[in-house]
Amino acid sequence: MLTVPALWAQTSTPRKPAEVRFSSDMLDKSIDPCTDFYAYACSKWQAQNPVPADRPTWGRFNELQERGEYIVKDILEKAAAKSAGRTLAEQKIGDYYASCMDEGAIEKASKKPLRGDLKSIAALKSKGDLSKEAIRLHREGTDVLFSFGSGSDFKNASQIIAEVDQGGLGLPDRDYYFKDDEKSVELRKKYVEHVQKMLELLGDAPAKAAEGAKAVMDIETGLAKGALDQTSRRDPLKIYHKLANQDLAALSPGFDWNAYFTGVGAPKFDALNVAEPDFVKQMQTVVDAHSIDDWKTYFRWHVVHSNAPVLPAAFVNENFEFFGKTMQGTKELRPRWKRCVSYENGDLGDAIGEIYVNQTFGAEGKARTLAMVDALEKALGDDIKSLPWMSDDTKKQALVKLAAITNRIGYTDKWRDYSKLEIKRGDALGNSQRSNQNDLQRRLNKIGTKLDKRDWPYPPMTVNATYNPLENNITFPAGILQPPFYDNTADDAMNFGGIGAVIGHELTHGFDDQGSQFDADGNLRDWWTADDKKKFEERTSCIKDQYGSFVAVDDLKLNGKLTLGENTADNGGMRIAYMALMSALAGKMPPTAGGLSAPQRFFLGWANVWCQNRTDAIARMLVTIDPHSPGKNRVNGTVSNMPEFREAYHCKADTPMVNQNACRVW
Ligand SMILES: [Zn+2]
Repeated sequence: MLTVPALWAQTSTPRKPAEVRFSSDMLDKSIDPCTDFYAYACSKWQAQNPVPADRPTWGRFNELQERGEYIVKDILEKAAAKSAGRTLAEQKIGDYYASCMDEGAIEKASKKPLRGDLKSIAALKSKGDLSKEAIRLHREGTDVLFSFGSGSDFKNASQIIAEVDQGGLGLPDRDYYFKDDEKSVELRKKYVEHVQKMLELLGDAPAKAAEGAKAVMDIETGLAKGALDQTSRRDPLKIYHKLANQDLAALSPGFDWNAYFTGVGAPKFDALNVAEPDFVKQMQTVVDAHSIDDWKTYFRWHVVHSNAPVLPAAFVNENFEFFGKTMQGTKELRPRWKRCVSYENGDLGDAIGEIYVNQTFGAEGKARTLAMVDALEKALGDDIKSLPWMSDDTKKQALVKLAAITNRIGYTDKWRDYSKLEIKRGDALGNSQRSNQNDLQRRLNKIGTKLDKRDWPYPPMTVNATYNPLENNITFPAGILQPPFYDNTADDAMNFGGIGAVIGHELTHGFDDQGSQFDADGNLRDWWTADDKKKFEERTSCIKDQYGSFVAVDDLKLNGKLTLGENTADNGGMRIAYMALMSALAGKMPPTAGGLSAPQRFFLGWANVWCQNRTDAIARMLVTIDPHSPGKNRVNGTVSNMPEFREAYHCKADTPMVNQNACRVW
């Protein structure tokens, strides 16, 4: 499916931080803002907020997210403790939480909850049985072979169709299987050791487990060979291939797709999006190349991998050793309750969310946010009209698209239905698997139906924001409409630099290298003239080169191409937020506050959001998979392109925060 551009990549969830409002005491006045604006705004925060032992990163986002975690914890504990008169939702969220928290029962059950999975895998006789087992595993949420779900038809976006996509890998991206630098080679070695240890925990003798881990690595490397990398997947044309069912069957004749579709619970359909046909072909090659015994081992690995969080401590710890410590540089496992909150937000998010918004989200927050969205949309319209490089024809279409954008603020009007989902107290693993099954069924039921824009991609406590090109809408959940993004006690300058720039960021996604390929109705249709596209690319290549020269960690530079869309959105978002602020002030510049002018506070509103620390390991990982640049670059990269910044801080032309070759798209 199309990866919808989010504001940041969440790497983990949530100490109970107090709400921190901006004050000029947070600035490091020994640093010249024209030399390193990020250090001026964030170095004090960074020194006072090291990455906690149980996390790979820590930033202002995480502080906000963690405050939300405490609210959710409270909701769940109350529901878990209540015995009589529970609502249906309280029963589900309370029993799920109690089961997840009951480590004693989980230890006592040992591997028993996996018995059904392991028995079914052991009974596989031939490769003809693979489709049958894929059905069972996909339904309980175990990612093997490929992934299956539903999504908008790119060329007819109001219609939901079935989608087959790449999948079945244990490492986060196909590139992990092929990069040949020393660190990547070492990581693969440790991954194979990890797979071996997990197989040993399932009961395999060490020699057999070692052999099995090697087979798993061979199979996954084979699958990865057919998969596209993250940069390529940003191009919608590379992940949209509408095929008739029989054309899919021709790509992998050894796999019984018809049996799969029926068995997995999809309604009947004749055509679907095969996102990556080469992947499906390659999958068949890999199926043919390995024995049924190798496939059984691969399935057993994925079962234990995907269920590890709700298995006994030995599994949880080994899983953390590799995916937490080795991969992300996290020192300690998060406390149990934080993990349970995070799993439950994923599995029963809307049931929790409905209670969460009643407790936290007021009408005022929604009204002020909507007013800001309107101001930002108007500024973007003015900006488009004045662009020197865009032709009138394209401008006209851009304005049509802008006017068609719909805004979703706070929370959904249509909560997800969990009535058919059985949550049993004392069955943590079963609850997790049944939740996955319920969610897959929800997505499959949409196949053949019209797009329902009331379906939100995440629950309201999420600290993030998105623009979806297939729906041409922006989503701002209640979770992000709080300090440091939005502060109802702060003045416009700070709020426009914070949530205002984020709104602008999301809006410009509708017009960037990816969004410009979709029209006002969300259909994949290029509405740019070739000449405009060329000029756009000339301008974005400036941003690609600028960010591609930034060092992320050690000698590893950012991938200018992978991060292009997000960097363009940051630069565009700040530009239109500044325009919107100036028009809100209507020529009446407010007095300085804390010795800072309104334009200075605006830029601090932006920097304030991005203060963060991260481990070297995760910084390395994110360079490969994250389309977002690190906070430092999001701040310094953007302000150095803005003459308004230079003016606000009286920077001399030869200072580092003045990009000699300033990039500007929007
Ligand atoms: Zn974005």
